[in-house]
Amino acid sequence: MADPVRALKDAQPVPFWLDDPARPDAASALVGDVRCDLLVVGGGYSGLWTALIAKERDPSLDVVLIEAQQAGWAASGRNGGFCEASLTHGLANGYQRWPDELGTLERLGAANLQAMEDSIGRHGIDCDWERTGSLVVATEPYQADGLAEFAELAARYGSRLDLLDQDAVRAEIDSPTFLGALWDREGVAMLNPARLAWGLRRPASTRACGSSSTPARPASPTPRTASPSAPRTAASAPAGWRWPPTPSPRCCAATARTPCRCTTTR
Ligand SMILES: Cc1cc2nc3c(=O)[nH]c(=O)nc-3n(C[C@H](O)[C@H](O)[C@H](O)COP(=O)(O)OP(=O)(O)OC[C@H]3O[C@@H](n4cnc5c(N)ncnc54)[C@H](O)[C@@H]3O)c2cc1C
Repeated sequence: MADPVRALKDAQPVPFWLDDPARPDAASALVGDVRCDLLVVGGGYSGLWTALIAKERDPSLDVVLIEAQQAGWAASGRNGGFCEASLTHGLANGYQRWPDELGTLERLGAANLQAMEDSIGRHGIDCDWERTGSLVVATEPYQADGLAEFAELAARYGSRLDLLDQDAVRAEIDSPTFLGALWDREGVAMLNPARLAWGLRRPASTRACGSSSTPARPASPTPRTASPSAPRTAASAPAGWRWPPTPSPRCCAATARTPCRCTTTR
């Protein structure tokens, strides 16, 4: 048997998606004091899309996004690239936990996926987004028997899943392993996750969002930069952002019209 250590000796420990010539350089660090309407901490999908949507809703907002490493560097740039409509990590899980709200959750999930697709299209983000759908496959007879029942459950909550018999699933995946499948044609897109993050950064920054290799640090009780001419400080801003132990980027969003001030250190 091949020695796995030898086999991997030339491997580079770089996440597949981030090992891309299109990877942009990290933005330069933000040093000093900045005032803004909305400060977003973290350049993953959550932060990048927050900044983008804030600017879309109100282009006059002064939005600053700070990132400790590089936009898309963390989970957002190294995930599996499956973008599912389901907000409950699958219908079966949602049915077990929230049967009464599942119809609403399914509807919101479908609208959310569509909104992502629309946003990607609106900003021309090149991330190989494709509504491939997904197949849930059966490899055992008892699983194949349950597929029709599952399709009925999905239909009750407004999702259409196409039932494939063995021949039909083999026409899609040429393997004798699969005895049947359910095809959710609409509820899943596949994409290049790193390119999505980099693409989200681009329209965000052209809309005057700053993006920097800048970590947010806990605000000190007596900021070194406090002065009479700049009375509002990171520590004293209403519901200001503190990290950790109570991360509160939401606080800045909630006080979007209240100037935030951040003091960054390197
Ligand atoms: C291996 C793996 C596979 C996955 N596969 C899938 C999948 O197929 N489909 C799916 O939908 N989801 C998947 N996920 C989950 C998905 O990737 C995450 O839910 C999503 O990327 C989280 O985005 P985020 O912006 O919240 O966090 P992150 O992408 O982690 O971004 C947070 C950012 O904040 C920055 N940051 C943190 N602290 C500070 C600070 N103090 N100051 C400044 N910046 C800071 C970090 O550097 C980071 O860049 C997967 C996750 C992993 C790890």
